[in-house]
Amino acid sequence: MKPKGFAVAAPVAALAFGAALAGYAAEGTQWAYEGPKGPEHWSEIKSEFAACGAGREQSPIDLQRTHAAEPEKIEISWQAFEPEVVNNGHTIQANAPAGSYTAFDGKRYDLLQLHFHHKSEHTLDGEQLPMEAHFVHKSAEGDLLVLGVFLVPGRTNGALETILDSAPQSRGSQSAEAAVDLRSLVPDDSAIFRYAGSLTTPPCSEIVSWIIYDRPVEVSPVQIAAFARLYPNNFRPTQPTNRRFVLFGF
Ligand SMILES: [Zn+2]
Repeated sequence: MKPKGFAVAAPVAALAFGAALAGYAAEGTQWAYEGPKGPEHWSEIKSEFAACGAGREQSPIDLQRTHAAEPEKIEISWQAFEPEVVNNGHTIQANAPAGSYTAFDGKRYDLLQLHFHHKSEHTLDGEQLPMEAHFVHKSAEGDLLVLGVFLVPGRTNGALETILDSAPQSRGSQSAEAAVDLRSLVPDDSAIFRYAGSLTTPPCSEIVSWIIYDRPVEVSPVQIAAFARLYPNNFRPTQPTNRRFVLFGF
């Protein structure tokens, strides 16, 4: 085991900060979603990625509405902001300035960034949905809380529109011209799934409290196509649930 601080610092640097652009360039060539550097081979690429193969609490997983429970309340406290939008070679990511957070289970998690997968990483009763948004948060202790939202074809979403409009077509970053209210990318009145898992990208660290919303949010078919033009396939396949309980409820 590595010291916890190290295990946390690496993925967060890779996920979160525009300042780590040199890191993105190096990271971007190390692993992929297809071919010899694809998900089946992540654990062989370097020893730091061992959890991708040997971990027993990996993400994503298939979600089933079985273990009814009353999950702790989630209190989202996000401010509208003009994000730095990064194309990091694996996804489009909107970095959040300090100040937005989510309270869950008696703990505060600061919002770091939002990014997208096409198609979805988690599946619902075996069904893969068109897209999934991940809102990545981190506590002062270094644990991650990720809120996952399924995106399905429907009406245009303004926040996603601003992010896509600002997204560099190749690797790089750009400031958005307008503020986004990310709450519009989270469903109201939705049941949630809750389970303990991992990052869905190398190093696959098992430090993530996952909350996945049951109800999807609508975005337009044109928006889905615009993202898919950049990243047609940036999802990790589902992993074994093993001995974990997935709680489901309001
Ligand atoms: Zn993700």
